[in-house]
Parts: sequence; C-alpha cells; structure tokens
Amino acid sequence: MFGSHLSISGSMLNALDEAVGLGLDTVQLFTKNQQQWKAKPLDPGLVRDWNARIAELGWKDRTVSHASYLINLASPDDELWRKSIDLMTDEIERCESLGIPFLVHHPGAFTTSDRESGLKRIAAAYRELFERTVGFHTISCLENTVGGGSTLGREFEELAALRGMIAEATGQPMRVGFCFDTCHAHSGGYDLSSPVTAAAVFEQWDRVVGLEHLRVLHMNDSKTPFNSHRDRHEHIGLGSIGVRGFAAVLGVRGGGGSAFAGVPKIMETPKGKDANGVPWDTINLGTLRECLSGATVKAPKTEPARKPVRTTAAAPKKGGPRKKKRKPAGKTKSAKRAIRRKA
Ligand SMILES: [Zn+2]
Ligand SMILES: [Zn+2]
Repeated sequence: MFGSHLSISGSMLNALDEAVGLGLDTVQLFTKNQQQWKAKPLDPGLVRDWNARIAELGWKDRTVSHASYLINLASPDDELWRKSIDLMTDEIERCESLGIPFLVHHPGAFTTSDRESGLKRIAAAYRELFERTVGFHTISCLENTVGGGSTLGREFEELAALRGMIAEATGQPMRVGFCFDTCHAHSGGYDLSSPVTAAAVFEQWDRVVGLEHLRVLHMNDSKTPFNSHRDRHEHIGLGSIGVRGFAAVLGVRGGGGSAFAGVPKIMETPKGKDANGVPWDTINLGTLRECLSGATVKAPKTEPARKPVRTTAAAPKKGGPRKKKRKPAGKTKSAKRAIRRKA
C-alpha cells in the first residue's frame, strides 16, 4: 500500500487521478489550503464524486489526510490554542465526510511554556475535539518529529505518554494512533540505516508505544545525517537511511506476518522529474517495491540532484533549469558506482 502526498490543485479528485496515473495504491492530501485558518465548507457535489471514486478504486480504508501546519494544540497562547482546536475540528469533520480513515498531524510545540504543560494542553484540546465529533471514525494520528526547539513528539516515551493522556482525557483511545515518519525518526536519533539498528528501533517502538497503534508510515529518506535533528526529506535510497534501511523497515514482522502490510506507506519525498523525465514518485515507488520484494536492492540508477532538494512543502518548479545541468557521462557513471557502493 504505497502512496504519495499529492497536490489538490484544481480539485481533490485530481490527486486521486494523479495517484492512479503514478501506479500508487493510495494517496495523502490536504483537504483544504493548508496555509489558511478558515476554509470554505466542502462542496456536497465534490464529496459525492470523491466517495464514488474512492469506492470504485477500493481505497476506502487507506487514504490519508495531513492536517494544516498552522495547528498547534500544545500552544500556551489561548487565542492560538482556540483557533487550533477550531481548525482541527474542521479537519476531522472534512475527513469524516470524505471517509478518510487517517488524519496525520504534528503534536505541536510548547513554545514559552514547558514540555509537561504542552502535553497537557494537547490532551485538553483532544477532549474538546472528541466531544465535538462524537462517533466519528477518522483516526487522528500523531506524527513523530525530529524534535527541534520546543517541538514535542520525538521520543517514543513521550508519544506513548501523550496517547495515554489523550485516552484518559477523552475516554476514546481507539480514535488516536500514530504516523511514523522514517526521516524524522532517523534524524531524531533512532538509527534506521541498517537491518540490526532498524529492527531494534521497531522493537523499542513496539515495547514503548505498540506496533498496533502505528497506523500510517511516512516513507522519507533523510538528506541530513543520523541524529542531525534536521527535517530534510530525500529520495528513497539516496539519503542517510539508504535502501538497506528501507528494506529493513518494510521487513518488520508483527502479528504473525509483515507488521505494516495493512498500513498506508506515504512518500513525502521531493517532487519533479529526473534528468530522463521520469517522475521522482515513480522512481521512489520502484525503489520501495524492490525493497519490499527482498531482492538485492540498489539505490536508484538515476543521477541524484546535485543541489539541496526541497521537500513537498516547497517543491521546486517542474523542469527547472538545474535539471538540465548534467555531469559528463564519465562522471555520472562513477557517481552511480559510488552510490551503489554506499548502498
Ligand atoms: Zn511526515
Ligand atoms: Zn518532515
């Protein structure tokens, strides 16, 4: 179940069409302009068309929405906290109308307060959210973070404690799960780059948080080194996690089989096309499928971008001039060999 975060430019239905065109099995999207506090209500016609298309594709149990980055449920500022609860309510309601089972959001940042107060604030926000949306099916998934500044949600212990606090505040533990982002974990100090370390990370997750609460995976390689505490997504196999790391993640066992077989695995890797005009989503999907098959996996054959690659939030313009600047053939080959050696 591989997907990608795709644009809703024009219509949310375009994201579905694009996902199908790319050969994906699911999609992650924003259900509104993610930079705005207020959004127009969903058009009933759009909701009808969306649900019909989802039924046709058989994707009912696997689509993912990402909540707006404006939301900070941990904020000590009452006005911002209230606005965040209102916007998060809207996000949950939209997902419910669209039958989107998973809504991913970042736990938040405690800014001028402290860690404990921040966590309490999130639990209190959840109490209100779930009171407003009794009986809804969408599962809110707290995403692990690299943990810079006052950002909450890097440590597994903290995520587990947070879920416990939310469960206690709301009495509805089944509506809260987690999204595990591989880049965030690795950059945040949980080494995913080798089969041994990756297995240890998920053993720890299972012991502390529980594999069954991991409802969405974000499959992103990391442009920065292990434990760098920076959030820079890279193409699969070309970052500090590498193909061996991704093969290990996909090979995690649990519940008598592959632990993540039924878990949507979403790429939030840089967009655009490689020098040969192949969409990076297609290349990254191919690498993940190889990792899954257990075959001897090599990093993508395509030459990696030379300059820093931006993440989905600020995707480079398609067909930008930098793509045309290519190294002479000889150098490209040695670069490719270097990647294979590293992998
Ligand atoms: Zn993510
Ligand atoms: Zn990220």
